[in-house]
Amino acid sequence: MDSHDVKHVYGPVPSRRLGRSLGIDLIPYKTCTYDCIYCQLGRTTRKTVTRERFVPTETILAEVRRKLEAGERPDYISLAGSGEPTLHAGIGELIQGLAGLTDIPVAVLTNGSLLWMDEVRQALMPADLVLPSLDAGDDRLFQDVNRPHPSLAFERMVEGIAAFTREFPGQVWLEVLLLGGITGMEAEVKKIASLAGRIGPARVQLNSVNRPPAEEYAACLSRERLAALGRFFTGPVEVISDGPADGGPIEAAASCDDTKILALLGRRPCTPDDVARGLGLHVPDVVKKLNALLRMGKVRTKKAEGRLFYTASPTSP
Ligand code: SF4
Repeated sequence: MDSHDVKHVYGPVPSRRLGRSLGIDLIPYKTCTYDCIYCQLGRTTRKTVTRERFVPTETILAEVRRKLEAGERPDYISLAGSGEPTLHAGIGELIQGLAGLTDIPVAVLTNGSLLWMDEVRQALMPADLVLPSLDAGDDRLFQDVNRPHPSLAFERMVEGIAAFTREFPGQVWLEVLLLGGITGMEAEVKKIASLAGRIGPARVQLNSVNRPPAEEYAACLSRERLAALGRFFTGPVEVISDGPADGGPIEAAASCDDTKILALLGRRPCTPDDVARGLGLHVPDVVKKLNALLRMGKVRTKKAEGRLFYTASPTSP
């Protein structure tokens, strides 16, 4: 397969929650209902709540079919990408199409902002796993952290996630991303935990900034601090702020392909470890490749929280 054929399907990429995940990007960069200060994709360039058909379902299904035929069986197929995936009006049809194509579980990573809409809740029903976010315990911090579209109301967003969780036959894992000096203190976490109790997800996943954020003041909390704050939540709670969920080594080393590395780095900043886990490569091979790509100007580096991340240069394919 010519890798240039692939426009919406990427990876498998290393996911901190889903192991090796085949990502489907449904949304043009960077179209979102929010403009989170911690967003690893940078600032939102198109903030909207208008749902559109951004890509034909058959185009994506054909790409997924080719990927799976190439033998790359991921742990999950995840709908996410360069913005909020529920803005794609064809998401329900796509999830049904994926279920007809493969038995690999389908996960939807959403900010949850549109789950108050009946049609969005119905569209996600055939998924296996839905991972919404709740980063604030009141409207003031919702505005500060998520910078939502002006039409989005905090209470309605929370009730939408709660309604979906009640109706959904699969599992809901609620991500709570906490920021140093903003939401990562006991009083704020208690408010978020109370709302999480109302929502009742199968588990709460505590996260913090792991990649270069949209705003430099979005500060990371340590794993230890997150673990300490986890005691305010009822039900299963885990810290997911470091490394992929399985953390296991990838057994077979695939060939170290520049195009695949650049495609991955074009989607998200990665450490050499991330690239190795996502593409099934050995870390030393990845480091050599990244150094060569750096010399050619095809990748750039950026430091965040003491770690070095690589991104594709804007001119790279
Ligand atoms: S919801 Fe996700 S994609 Fe949208 S701004 Fe926040 S972190 Fe970025």
